[in-house]
Amino acid sequence: KDYLASPERYLTMTYNRTGNSGVLLPAISLGLWHNFGFVDNLQNARKVLRCAFDLGITHFDLANNYGPPYGSAEENFGTIYKKDFKNYRDELFIASKAGYDMWPGPYGNWGSRKYLIASIDQSLKRMGLDYVDIFYHHRPDPDTPLEETMGALADMVRQGKALYVGISNYQPEETKKAAGILKRLNTPFILHQARYSMFDRWVEDGLLHTLKDNGVGCIAFSPLAQGMLTDKYIHGIPEDSRANKAFSFLNTDTVKNNIEKVKALNAIAVKREQKLSQMAIAWLLRQPQVSSVLVGASSANQLKENVKALDNLKFTEEELKLIDGIVG
Ligand code: NDP
Repeated sequence: KDYLASPERYLTMTYNRTGNSGVLLPAISLGLWHNFGFVDNLQNARKVLRCAFDLGITHFDLANNYGPPYGSAEENFGTIYKKDFKNYRDELFIASKAGYDMWPGPYGNWGSRKYLIASIDQSLKRMGLDYVDIFYHHRPDPDTPLEETMGALADMVRQGKALYVGISNYQPEETKKAAGILKRLNTPFILHQARYSMFDRWVEDGLLHTLKDNGVGCIAFSPLAQGMLTDKYIHGIPEDSRANKAFSFLNTDTVKNNIEKVKALNAIAVKREQKLSQMAIAWLLRQPQVSSVLVGASSANQLKENVKALDNLKFTEEELKLIDGIVG
């Protein structure tokens, strides 16, 4: 059936300015790292994307190697985009990245100009797009001069292949240097994509300050610690959960080691009349530098639940202290 987006899609979502840029991002964005590869169900993927857009989620985050197999999330996205979203291109903010292992040999990984330029061309082809809204260097490369990597990002913008650029997983000092280079190259550097959740607070140790100083926004990935910060693992490990999947990066031991903390956090969420997933998202959005929280979802219902986080974003001092006491 043809897809007509909900006319109400912009009524309830909040949009935040990212850094000092002109770009507004939905407070909650959708990532396609898992659940969108050839190993997954395409009709379910399509449902999740439609549901996302109907909820006002205008930002979809991809990367060259999302799948598995590599490239398949972009290819599936391209298939769905062509059927459902082509007419909405100008309402969408689409991201891709390169920086991790993608193809064999010396030019399919890390941060060379050779790799990045080839990779964005491949991504555009797979997704059937003329340009991406933002292209990120996915992780720092200690062996390639930063000028080369940033120069490649700048040229993507000049060539019209990307409108904005970003970096991901860079430490504060590297971020500052990258910002300096991109400024000299007149390249719009608007986002840093960083892992940030109640279980991983490294960005609070300098990165958020650096981003503020440089007018760059933060988009927080794995905000639910890959699903641990929900109520799904409280009574054991469900068959179809990420922790149970062979190709995932979440293992059952990690879940087991954290489950007492999860239970304690869940008790706070219950008192707030909120799901733990919603509290975990709200807790990130309290940081002014965080423009968007980038969730994953294996079903449309998960996404609907997560977006309801916006119904209660306030924390009392006491709640924040209790959370600090649990997660440190
Ligand atoms: P999350 O921490 O949001 O985990 C998402 C997973 O949690 C879902 O796939 C689902 O897993 C489970 N889940 C989500 N909502 C609920 C709910 N309401 N109730 C129960 N379970 C729920 O984020 P991700 O780790 O998926 O990362 C999000 C995005 O961030 C990625 O798609 C990617 O775009 C980006 N990212 C970027 C990285 C980078 O290096 N730049 C690295 C990692 C991610 P289940 O399958 O068990 O149902």
